[in-house]
Amino acid sequence: MQNKVRIVLVNTSHPGNIGGAARAMKNMGLADLYLVAPRDYPSQEAVSRASGATDLLESAVVVETLEEALADCQLVIGTSARERTIPWPLVDPRESADLVFNEGLETAFVFGREDRGLTNEELQRCHYHVHIPSVASFSSLNLGAAVQVIAYELRMKFLASQDAPAVQNKWDVPAATVEQVDYLLAHLEKVLVDIEFLDPDMPMQVMPRFRRLFQRSRLDQQEYGMLRGMLTSMEKQARS
Ligand code: SAH
Repeated sequence: MQNKVRIVLVNTSHPGNIGGAARAMKNMGLADLYLVAPRDYPSQEAVSRASGATDLLESAVVVETLEEALADCQLVIGTSARERTIPWPLVDPRESADLVFNEGLETAFVFGREDRGLTNEELQRCHYHVHIPSVASFSSLNLGAAVQVIAYELRMKFLASQDAPAVQNKWDVPAATVEQVDYLLAHLEKVLVDIEFLDPDMPMQVMPRFRRLFQRSRLDQQEYGMLRGMLTSMEKQARS
């Protein structure tokens, strides 16, 4: 289970936090670390804060965009210290570990910047949001501490499963990947503009709401293929 989970840190400014996150991960048996455009990395500070977890830093995958870090994932869980514009499926850390375990999918946990967290657009890329239930008046944890809490819940779930393996996802078709859902949304947007359902100059929240709908439905690869095929047929009809 645990080798299906990656931790993605977005635009981290303090390299010490990257080291702290690596240490927290290794303590709890996680190994896959993705760094999206870290601001000051590689760094000696990261190595010292990682203590003995420098192997995780060495194998960390550094990418420029969040899309690259998520492309082959099937389940994306974004962490957030506070509520955002439109409500999104929200779980607590324990429930997020249940999701990982019950679904058995390639999963990413996404963590934001120290100063301003994840953007709304980044959060909208996530199937679920997870909030660590801190007090509302002082809700933001240190980045490494937030990684520790999530990694700990995953570890507890993993240990509990050693006695009695939990039921794994028995769906007949593999789940769609993040990249496929992105293609579908781009295709849908194009068709909606073509048929004048969507005004590109006044898009409102239409596409984020479609994104939320598709992500909530947990699309499989066959359903993805059907929807892409349907859009292609609609395009042909609209043109004729
Ligand atoms: N000031 C930022 C908080 C950034 S804290 C904001 O208001 O969003 C840095 C990162 O640590 C966050 O992006 C998130 O990934 C994680 N984090 C901190 N506190 C958290 C909490 N209570 N629940 C979930 N994640 C949290």
